[in-house]
Amino acid sequence: MSIGENITEFHNLLQKTPCKLVAVSKTKPAALLREAYDAGQRDFGENKVQELREKPSLLPTDIRWHMIGHLQTNKVKYIAPFIHLIHSVDSEKLLEEIDKQALKNSRVIECLLQVHIAQEEHKFGFDESELDALLSEIALARLPNIRIVGLMGMATFTDDVTRIRQEFRFLKGLFDKYRVINLDNVKMREISMGMSDDYGIALEEGSTLIRVGSKIFGPRIYL
Ligand SMILES: *Cc1c(COP(=O)(O)O)cnc(C)c1O
Repeated sequence: MSIGENITEFHNLLQKTPCKLVAVSKTKPAALLREAYDAGQRDFGENKVQELREKPSLLPTDIRWHMIGHLQTNKVKYIAPFIHLIHSVDSEKLLEEIDKQALKNSRVIECLLQVHIAQEEHKFGFDESELDALLSEIALARLPNIRIVGLMGMATFTDDVTRIRQEFRFLKGLFDKYRVINLDNVKMREISMGMSDDYGIALEEGSTLIRVGSKIFGPRIYL
């Protein structure tokens, strides 16, 4: 199947759901993103600032760019002018820098807080007690140029479907808990969960943004 056909298939799948597709185009050249664009895809996810600095100028301006990878504070400035949504906020320090760069660009940048839901040690993200602390009014009042609109998580890399489902369910539980918060800069509406191998489970567990790469663009080759 072609990239365009893959996009159409996902759009059909999501048609009657509240979930949207973020096409994860990391490592892929602009020509392949263009194929997805021509099939109607407008949301693209990248995990490297370098690629986010290169690709937008090669592609139509109505694309919404999502940052889904670990973001270093010293690189926020490069994406602050245009980034649509940062899925991978994993520290208060990063949030402060995004706020600062958003102000410089006279905009509000929408962010998701990355939650550590997997078994693996190395995955980035907050745990529940850290989220509780961060989402207290006092801490966030100083940051008027960010808006926290939801949570993002990555399940454990495993064939154990039950385990993946539990992890997504845990993330949805946190989302429901924080959904009642209604601050100027905290209004939860998105749960970013589900990738090529587990988006089906994520959809069943309430995902609103699936981040799919290889199922659309084919396997990635890292040189
Ligand atoms: C690469 C990546 C994806 C997409 O992975 P696939 O398995 O190719 O769908 C989703 N989310 C994040 C954070 C990623 O880094």
